[in-house]
Formats: sequence, structure tokens, C-alpha cells
Amino acid sequence: MTTQTRRPQPPPDVKRRCHRCQGSGRADCPICKGTGKVVTGADVNGNPLFGDCSGCFGLKHSRCPVCSGEGYV
Ligand SMILES: [Zn+2]
Ligand SMILES: [Zn+2]
Repeated sequence: MTTQTRRPQPPPDVKRRCHRCQGSGRADCPICKGTGKVVTGADVNGNPLFGDCSGCFGLKHSRCPVCSGEGYV
């Protein structure tokens, strides 16, 4: 007496590597474009002055916006 109804198995909860950051969870900082520095002004000779990026604090990267830094989605 088996009245089992065969329901399709849900796909296993496999997380896929983020296509944006390739699993690193990091992305180039959009503010400094991954350089870690931003131009903060110019000196008296007109040469640009650089300072640490305020977006990434000089780390050059920020959390991946696609996977929220997890590296997998
Ligand atoms: Zn930055
Ligand atoms: Zn990502």
C-alpha cells in the first residue's frame, strides 16, 4: 500500500561562485578604481596630491556588490 506521490526533488542548495568577483568576494573600489588613492588636491606647483581613498581606506577594493562579499551567490 504505497501511495507515495513522486514529487520532483528540489535542486540541492548549491551556491555558485560569483561571476563578478570570481569567488573572491571583492571588487575594485568604484571610487578610486582600484588604485587605493584619490586626488585630494594640488600642490603649489600644480602637481596632484593623492590621499587614501575614503571609500576603501586605501585597500583598493570593496565588497563585491553582487555576492555581498561572500564570493558565492
Ligand atoms: Zn577606493
Ligand atoms: Zn561577488
